Amino acid sequence: MNKDTIEILNKQGIKATKQRVFLYEILKKQEKPLTAEEIYFLAKKEINSFNLSTIYRILDTFVKKKLVVKYKLDIDEKFHFEIIREKHRHYLLCICCNQIIPISDCPIEKYEHDIAEQTGYVIVDHNLEIKGICPNCQGPYGIH
Ligand SMILES: [Zn+2]
Ligand SMILES: [Zn+2]
Repeated sequence: MNKDTIEILNKQGIKATKQRVFLYEILKKQEKPLTAEEIYFLAKKEINSFNLSTIYRILDTFVKKKLVVKYKLDIDEKFHFEIIREKHRHYLLCICCNQIIPISDCPIEKYEHDIAEQTGYVIVDHNLEIKGICPNCQGPYGIH
């Protein structure tokens, strides 16, 4: 078991069981937010004793302890889970095949800073979903 992960869990008052450590590490490796079913699929490949309700329970704990965020994406009405990182990410979604890819930069950071200055607000969060049609779904002759 990864020592860093155990430390992170302990710091949030979560007992570092094998399943929790394992699940946290799966989430850490992901390049995009996943649904509980997708996480279950990945986890099940490694540890056979996982079942979907265990996954939900652990994810719930992680969300409560601010290790993971849970939100709905517009593309399918399902909840997605993503580990909270030092630097947040935004995503580009394909409306045809539901592919999700991360975007490297946050285009809002400067804007956010300006708004904070103008209004005196302390900005705590923002959301940005960019939707499009991926090259695969466009086909050789563009969109028809
Ligand atoms: Zn697509
Ligand atoms: Zn951002």
